[in-house]
Amino acid sequence: MATKVSLVKCGSYADTEVAGALRSALAPFGGMAALVKPGQKVLIKPNCLMGEAPEMAVTTHPTLIFAVVKEVIAAGGIALVGDSPGNAHANVVASMEKAGIKQAAEAAGGALVPFQQGGIVKVKSPSGSSILPEVPIAGPVLAADFVIDLPKLKTHGMTLYTGAIKNMFGCVPGFFKTEFHRLAPHPHDFASLLVDVFAISRPGLTIMDAVVGMEGAGPSHGTPRKLGAIIASTDGVAVDVIGSSLIGFDPLDIDMIKIAGERGLGNSNLEQIEVLGAAIAELRLTDWARPDRLYKVLKRFPRLAGILAGFIAINPEIDQQKCVKCLVCLKSCPAKTIKMHPHPLSPSPLPRGKGNKGLGVYIDLKNCIHCFCCHELCQYDAVKLKSSWLARLMGVA
Ligand code: SF4
Ligand code: SF4
Repeated sequence: MATKVSLVKCGSYADTEVAGALRSALAPFGGMAALVKPGQKVLIKPNCLMGEAPEMAVTTHPTLIFAVVKEVIAAGGIALVGDSPGNAHANVVASMEKAGIKQAAEAAGGALVPFQQGGIVKVKSPSGSSILPEVPIAGPVLAADFVIDLPKLKTHGMTLYTGAIKNMFGCVPGFFKTEFHRLAPHPHDFASLLVDVFAISRPGLTIMDAVVGMEGAGPSHGTPRKLGAIIASTDGVAVDVIGSSLIGFDPLDIDMIKIAGERGLGNSNLEQIEVLGAAIAELRLTDWARPDRLYKVLKRFPRLAGILAGFIAINPEIDQQKCVKCLVCLKSCPAKTIKMHPHPLSPSPLPRGKGNKGLGVYIDLKNCIHCFCCHELCQYDAVKLKSSWLARLMGVA
């Protein structure tokens, strides 16, 4: 039997238009009430990559989040909206507020669940990966009775495209994402890890915001472009097949779609997908700008991927203007790599406490294990996290 995917035209983010398109998209699956049972904890996972205004097309649009939360509540579910954005060094709730996600979720009757606050569970790799045998997943994802994946359709510098599968990478708590890139610098290996996360987070429904997507230098620095669609299915892999086809990509050129199909996590064969509603040909844009320079380079020169991995970094740095020298970070650093110096390059620390006027607290990155305890513990907002240019380009920061 063919896999069903709804493709519904939606020309704007006007409340009524989005709500109507959503209901049409869910109708072939029996509506939200056929999927969500009364009393179930429903985790809704939008793309909240960073705190950008909705019109930048970086994040899932708040109007769609509002409509989905309303539908979940109408079905009797408890709507929880959560994410752990790549730039988790920013205040996650503030990021969600800037993206309009917090306001939309709460106005519709839902509650926010910032993943950083919900604990981390290490789950055995479903593919038996030797690169990452245990996958760190945010507790609220595993605690949910039902998961709804709410991706934004965009290009991506490393994976070429980002949609349903890639969106679930946000279930990996903040900083652990950087480690994925370090451990799997080659796009195929990285895609394999993304599929592991997708398998563990098990969305039962995917609703893609393809009203306005992003082309070019996605996922965060590209150009918003109207596509005018909402795509939905109980099969997230099939949603990605249709989403990538709509912007003129061959779905099987995208490693994560291919791998997910091979692992039986969904249907990656366009021929076996029944598209309900609009036809792909009515909405397809074949001149969608690609981000593929970096992607092509990494695919062609896998050794280069290993070299570049050394440049994917988010490092802690102490803002000397804000630091009050309370030494909490110094005492808590498990690697003992925070020292008080007159100068960052000084070979030996000077005594602390009384008489340390003029000294500064510095981090020697050589021994840093990137646990980010210093960042979490500093009450004075003096520990900043600096992303390397490649981390920013790859959308991990
Ligand atoms: S915890 Fe913050 S204020 Fe205290 S020494 Fe470290 S950086 Fe400075
Ligand atoms: S990130 Fe961890 S290891 Fe690195 S300086 Fe901060 S506390 Fe120390």
